[in-house]
Amino acid sequence: MRLDKFIANNSSYSRTEVKRLIKNKTVCVDKKITTDPSFTVTNLNTVRIDGEIIEAIKPLYIMLNKPTGYVCANKDNIHSPVVDLITEQHARQSDQTPPKYRAQSLQIAGRLDVDTTGLVLLTDNGEWNHRVTSPNKACFKRYRVKLEKPLDDAAIKLLSEGVMLHGEKAATLPATVELISNTEVLLSIQEGRFHQVKRMFVKVGTCVVKLHREAIGAIELDTNLKPGQWRHLTNEEIEAIN
Ligand code: URA
Repeated sequence: MRLDKFIANNSSYSRTEVKRLIKNKTVCVDKKITTDPSFTVTNLNTVRIDGEIIEAIKPLYIMLNKPTGYVCANKDNIHSPVVDLITEQHARQSDQTPPKYRAQSLQIAGRLDVDTTGLVLLTDNGEWNHRVTSPNKACFKRYRVKLEKPLDDAAIKLLSEGVMLHGEKAATLPATVELISNTEVLLSIQEGRFHQVKRMFVKVGTCVVKLHREAIGAIELDTNLKPGQWRHLTNEEIEAIN
């Protein structure tokens, strides 16, 4: 990785500050002053600014129990963004709260609508995020869905096989539908198209009145997390996405 990128990623310095620090000869790689911002550093190098070591920071992996009223975005003009919940008082273990500059660079691995609740995964590891969200990786997301009208067998068959949504070129990929009651189902899908679950149920003649995500792949929403609370993922959970 480039020296300037390494420092910006692993400290609170802005890109401009990093450039200035390098130019002013305050940055050393393995005790040698380095003025080339494009110099390649690996995890075998030790980078220092004014003698102080810049450690390579481990990526963050977080699960959040999203309440309604929050948007899955880092910034929004109307609603509060979910990242606010990470930097504020809502952690179960607040001593583990990441600093604001790190929380701001978290990506959301699979967005939920403002009125949808449940499991949201956040990370600053772009490659891991891709594994969660890419339809090719077949990482199933399980939703608990409350419906306005009961589903009949024909609707369940249609949803399971795939439905053609308005304005789309391909039918939805096969889904799993499990009836909990007449008007409550568990739906598992591997894609994340715009308002997909709501549109799938409209297509088969009913309407979603409540939507809650319970699981992403093998990662289940921790039932100890109250709405708005979050925790870091365990190593097992991180590795369960492959
Ligand atoms: N599908 C939807 O329609 N909404 C969500 O929030 C998630 C999936």
